[in-house]
Amino acid sequence: MSGTEPCEQCGSQHTRAAARCPDCGHERSSRWRYVGWLVLGIAVPVLALATALLGYLALLSIQQGTIGAAGPAIALWIGIWVGAALTVVIVYDRSTESRTPTGSPDR
Ligand SMILES: [Zn+2]
Repeated sequence: MSGTEPCEQCGSQHTRAAARCPDCGHERSSRWRYVGWLVLGIAVPVLALATALLGYLALLSIQQGTIGAAGPAIALWIGIWVGAALTVVIVYDRSTESRTPTGSPDR
Protein backbone atom coordinates (compact mmCIF):
# COMPACT_ATOMS: atom_id res chain seq x y z
CA MET A 1 0.00 0.00 0.00
CA SER A 2 1.57 3.30 -1.09
CA GLY A 3 1.09 6.63 0.67
CA THR A 4 0.47 8.59 -2.51
CA GLU A 5 -1.91 8.24 -5.41
CA PRO A 6 -2.16 10.10 -8.73
CA CYS A 7 -5.04 12.55 -9.03
CA GLU A 8 -7.79 11.31 -11.33
CA GLN A 9 -8.14 14.76 -12.87
CA CYS A 10 -4.64 16.30 -13.18
CA GLY A 11 -2.40 13.27 -12.47
CA SER A 12 -0.30 14.94 -9.76
CA GLN A 13 0.82 12.79 -6.83
CA HIS A 14 -0.71 13.57 -3.44
CA THR A 15 -1.37 11.69 -0.22
CA ARG A 16 -4.02 9.00 -0.38
CA ALA A 17 -5.73 10.45 2.69
CA ALA A 18 -6.28 13.86 1.04
CA ALA A 19 -9.97 14.26 0.24
CA ARG A 20 -9.21 17.13 -2.16
CA CYS A 21 -6.35 17.45 -4.65
CA PRO A 22 -4.03 20.34 -3.62
CA ASP A 23 -3.34 21.21 -7.28
CA CYS A 24 -6.71 21.19 -9.02
CA GLY A 25 -9.16 20.80 -6.11
CA HIS A 26 -10.65 17.61 -7.49
CA GLU A 27 -12.57 15.83 -4.72
CA ARG A 28 -12.03 12.09 -4.63
CA SER A 29 -14.46 11.35 -1.83
CA SER A 30 -17.37 12.92 -3.71
CA ARG A 31 -16.82 10.50 -6.57
CA TRP A 32 -16.91 7.51 -4.23
CA ARG A 33 -20.01 8.83 -2.53
CA TYR A 34 -21.62 9.22 -5.97
CA VAL A 35 -20.69 5.64 -6.87
CA GLY A 36 -22.11 4.48 -3.54
CA TRP A 37 -25.44 6.20 -4.16
CA LEU A 38 -25.50 4.89 -7.74
CA VAL A 39 -24.93 1.33 -6.51
CA LEU A 40 -27.62 1.76 -3.85
CA GLY A 41 -30.02 3.28 -6.40
CA ILE A 42 -29.57 0.28 -8.69
CA ALA A 43 -29.20 -2.43 -6.05
CA VAL A 44 -32.28 -1.59 -3.97
CA PRO A 45 -34.88 -1.79 -6.80
CA VAL A 46 -33.16 -4.86 -8.30
CA LEU A 47 -33.09 -6.66 -4.95
CA ALA A 48 -36.71 -5.71 -4.23
CA LEU A 49 -37.73 -7.03 -7.64
CA ALA A 50 -35.66 -10.21 -7.20
CA THR A 51 -37.16 -10.78 -3.76
CA ALA A 52 -40.71 -10.38 -5.09
CA LEU A 53 -40.00 -12.62 -8.10
CA LEU A 54 -38.34 -15.32 -6.00
CA GLY A 55 -41.07 -15.20 -3.40
CA TYR A 56 -43.60 -15.75 -6.18
CA LEU A 57 -41.54 -18.57 -7.73
CA ALA A 58 -41.05 -20.21 -4.32
CA LEU A 59 -44.82 -20.12 -3.66
CA LEU A 60 -45.43 -21.62 -7.11
CA SER A 61 -42.84 -24.34 -6.45
CA ILE A 62 -44.41 -25.20 -3.10
CA GLN A 63 -47.84 -25.45 -4.72
CA GLN A 64 -46.53 -27.74 -7.47
CA GLY A 65 -44.24 -29.71 -5.12
CA THR A 66 -41.09 -28.83 -7.11
CA ILE A 67 -39.31 -26.74 -4.47
CA GLY A 68 -36.03 -28.55 -5.29
CA ALA A 69 -35.90 -26.81 -8.68
CA ALA A 70 -35.82 -23.41 -6.95
CA GLY A 71 -32.52 -24.26 -5.21
CA PRO A 72 -30.14 -22.66 -7.78
CA ALA A 73 -32.36 -19.57 -8.03
CA ILE A 74 -32.32 -19.12 -4.25
CA ALA A 75 -28.52 -19.57 -4.21
CA LEU A 76 -28.20 -16.90 -6.94
CA TRP A 77 -30.46 -14.58 -4.94
CA ILE A 78 -28.29 -14.96 -1.83
CA GLY A 79 -25.19 -14.35 -4.01
CA ILE A 80 -26.67 -11.09 -5.31
CA TRP A 81 -27.46 -9.96 -1.75
CA VAL A 82 -23.93 -10.73 -0.52
CA GLY A 83 -22.36 -9.03 -3.57
CA ALA A 84 -24.46 -5.90 -3.11
CA ALA A 85 -23.71 -5.78 0.63
CA LEU A 86 -19.96 -6.15 0.00
CA THR A 87 -20.04 -3.39 -2.65
CA VAL A 88 -21.82 -1.00 -0.28
CA VAL A 89 -19.36 -1.80 2.55
CA ILE A 90 -16.31 -1.28 0.29
CA VAL A 91 -17.62 2.02 -1.14
CA TYR A 92 -18.57 3.29 2.33
CA ASP A 93 -15.14 2.30 3.70
CA ARG A 94 -13.32 4.14 0.89
CA SER A 95 -15.43 7.30 1.26
CA THR A 96 -14.79 7.50 5.03
CA GLU A 97 -11.09 6.71 4.58
CA SER A 98 -10.47 9.68 2.26
CA ARG A 99 -12.41 12.02 4.56
CA THR A 100 -9.65 12.07 7.25
CA PRO A 101 -7.31 14.93 6.17
CA THR A 102 -4.24 13.95 8.20
CA GLY A 103 -4.47 10.23 7.52
CA SER A 104 -4.46 9.39 11.21
CA PRO A 105 -7.10 6.90 12.33
CA ASP A 106 -9.94 8.35 14.39
CA ARG A 107 -10.38 5.30 16.57
ZN1 LIG B 1 -5.61 17.12 -9.24
